[in-house]
Amino acid sequence: METKTIPTKNGHALNGFSIDDIGDDHLFTSLDTPMKPNAFDMSDKEKKERISILFSEIMDVLGLDLTDDSLQGTPDRVAKMYVEEIFSGLDPKNKPKVALFDNKYQYNQMLVEKDITFYSNCEHHFVPIIGKAHVAYISSGKVIGLSKLNRIVQYYAKRPQVQERLTQQIAHELKTVLGTEDVAVIIDAKHLCVSSRGVKDDTSATVTTFYGGAFNSPEKINELQNYINS
Ligand SMILES: [Zn+2]
Repeated sequence: METKTIPTKNGHALNGFSIDDIGDDHLFTSLDTPMKPNAFDMSDKEKKERISILFSEIMDVLGLDLTDDSLQGTPDRVAKMYVEEIFSGLDPKNKPKVALFDNKYQYNQMLVEKDITFYSNCEHHFVPIIGKAHVAYISSGKVIGLSKLNRIVQYYAKRPQVQERLTQQIAHELKTVLGTEDVAVIIDAKHLCVSSRGVKDDTSATVTTFYGGAFNSPEKINELQNYINS
């Protein structure tokens, strides 16, 4: 059988694999969420109107009766949810503003915020990814509020995602904000596209990690694991 190699927009083949080879496997191509250059030409209001029309078409094609009382408002609800909630992290205007504080007492100490619950969506199937993020950094004398760590996680989760990219994007943002390489991100998540469909594996979870700078040592990783498991 002939195998076609599909070139991506960057001109690279998908590591020599065809779309058929890849099938249901999730592929991670870049740190940045792939966005069109004109992604924000439309206002949020226009986006909601368009999505509502298009979603009612999907429902119509599926054979649903859109005049039914229960279904009538669904296209509008989905459009509002996409733009204002679950995909609001696509828009840089929603990025959390982070203030840094001097705290000399925290110098050289590991700060850990564990068990940050997040809800994201798989970009290959548009069904939920539900998980916990643990984030840590070693203070260079600057600290940020713990709620900001949470907000950074939520911002990047509110996009169509793959778990590897979510991990990297959170780590990258923390490095930039804190001005240090010494950050760690661990994500433990369940993908509904794996548990509720496809291979229907209901028990597996996926763990991804990022260890930057000083976290690249067995001692630091151990210390971090002890905090997370305590
Ligand atoms: Zn998926």
